[in-house]
Parts: sequence; structure tokens; C-alpha cells
Amino acid sequence: MSLPRIGLTAVTREVSGTERTLLNAAYVRAVVLAGGIPLILSPLIPPDQAAQVAEGLDGLVLTGGEDVDPAYFGQEPHPRLGPVDRVRDALELAMFREAWSREIPVLGICRGIQLLNVGLGGTLWQDIPSERPAALTHAQPDARDARTHTVEITAGSRLAQALGTVRCEVNSFHHQSIRELARGLTITARAPDGEIEAVESGAGAPWLLAVQWHPEEFHHHPGAPEHGLFRALVQQATLRAGAGLTGSVRVPE
Ligand code: MN
Repeated sequence: MSLPRIGLTAVTREVSGTERTLLNAAYVRAVVLAGGIPLILSPLIPPDQAAQVAEGLDGLVLTGGEDVDPAYFGQEPHPRLGPVDRVRDALELAMFREAWSREIPVLGICRGIQLLNVGLGGTLWQDIPSERPAALTHAQPDARDARTHTVEITAGSRLAQALGTVRCEVNSFHHQSIRELARGLTITARAPDGEIEAVESGAGAPWLLAVQWHPEEFHHHPGAPEHGLFRALVQQATLRAGAGLTGSVRVPE
């Protein structure tokens, strides 16, 4: 049986004076460990080619990075909005739409949970510290794999099944978070301050799971529950590939 092809979105950065397409290798390692073939998608792919790209994928990971441009959810920029990349936003929104309409399973991580919420019509807090002053520190100064706040997870949710727990300590590197939840999504984890830390799609909708923390950073911890998130995505992508659905456009329910 062939392995499922998992697309991973990426960033554009200038390094040593040269523009590069980059991705934190932790995402790549996590997908490899879970049994998927990682395919890195440059933000420089023109959005009108998203359909063709989606034809070659069995699963999609929307990765972390910049703030989402508030123009995509109909708001003026907050004075403390972080750096945005409208080129990346456009490609990722197009890729997400293609994945959703083709029922390609999607795992959203950090910026990814925000991006897909916007893609489905929701909005974001643009600057948690000033807009939610009672919030915990969600931009931790600690190591990437340090667990700095808890999340309470809905029992019986896709997330709880994938992690094997209903309470988890997580890492936290986000400046934005979900404000108004998009229709079709269900909240399945919150931080103690009420911040939305995970969402998923309902029964009958395309498979979607998204978290506000960074599960990929635990790839080198063999017993970490976060491996279950990548295994769940790969399992769904394998099922879809095995059903011969790769490339076909299915009518959304
Ligand atoms: Mn957090």
C-alpha cells in the first residue's frame, strides 16, 4: 500500500540576503514518524494553481507562522497586529478551500487553526495581550517543547481520541486566536483563561482537526500524546487514498 501524501504549508523568509521557502523541520519529522510522505508547499505557488496541487494530496497540514491579515475577516488592522504575509494567506485560503471541497483531511496547527476559522467565515483576536488582558501568557519565552499551560479537552471528541487524554499540558506560541467561531466547527479544547485551543468538524463534514499549540515540537518525545494527532491525520489520509478519491472533487454536504 502506498503512503499518503501530506502537503505542508510553509513560509517565505530572507536568510543571508536570499529569499527562501522554509518550514520548521519538526513538522516534517512528525509527518514522517506518523507514516506520511511530507510535501512542502511554497507560499509562492499561485493561488489559482491550488486545485491542481490538491489533486496530488491525500492530507493537508496548515502550519504556524505570521498573523492572518484581518482584511480576510473584514476588520481593520489592530495597532499591535504582527507581521502578515498576504501572499501566503491567499495560497493557504485557496488550499484550504480545495481541501474542504474535496474532503481532503486537514490538520491545522497554530496559525493553521486561525486560518481555517477565517476560511470558514470566523474571526480572530488580533493581539491577545491587549484585547484579552486577563489572558494567560500564550507567547511563551520557554523552549519550543516546554509545556506552559493546560488545556481541557472535550471527552469523546476527535481530539481526545487522538491524544488519548482529556487534559494536557501544552506549549504556546501564538499572538492571535479564534474570536468568533466559524459555522461548522466545534470547540474541543480551551485554556484555563477560556482561549480556544482546539476545534474540529462535525459528523458528516470533511475530517478536520486543529489545535492552537505546536504538537510537532514533541516529535522527539516518543511517548508524547501529540504523535496521535499526526497519526490520526495520516490514518484519515490513508483511508481517503485507499478509497480512490484522490484528485476527485466531491460535492460538499
Ligand atoms: Mn495557548
